[in-house]
Amino acid sequence: MPIIVAESECFGCALCVLNCPEDAMEITSSFIVAIDEDRCTDCGECLDFCPVDALAEA
Ligand code: SF4
Ligand code: SF4
Repeated sequence: MPIIVAESECFGCALCVLNCPEDAMEITSSFIVAIDEDRCTDCGECLDFCPVDALAEA
């Protein structure tokens, strides 16, 4: 299942980016995380690191 970002919640802290084992996340110029769906394996690890629960599985 793809990972969904709640863009109104994400503040670009990058904790998820630093902990993604596939290097599938980056912070955009808008300070919101973006996910490269070609690299993401849907492992779900990033969900555990977001302090504001901005990430969810679709
Ligand atoms: S689900 Fe896994 S591979 Fe995909 S963005 Fe999150 S940590 Fe990275
Ligand atoms: S951990 Fe949460 S708030 Fe921080 S960049 Fe990732 S999605 Fe955004």
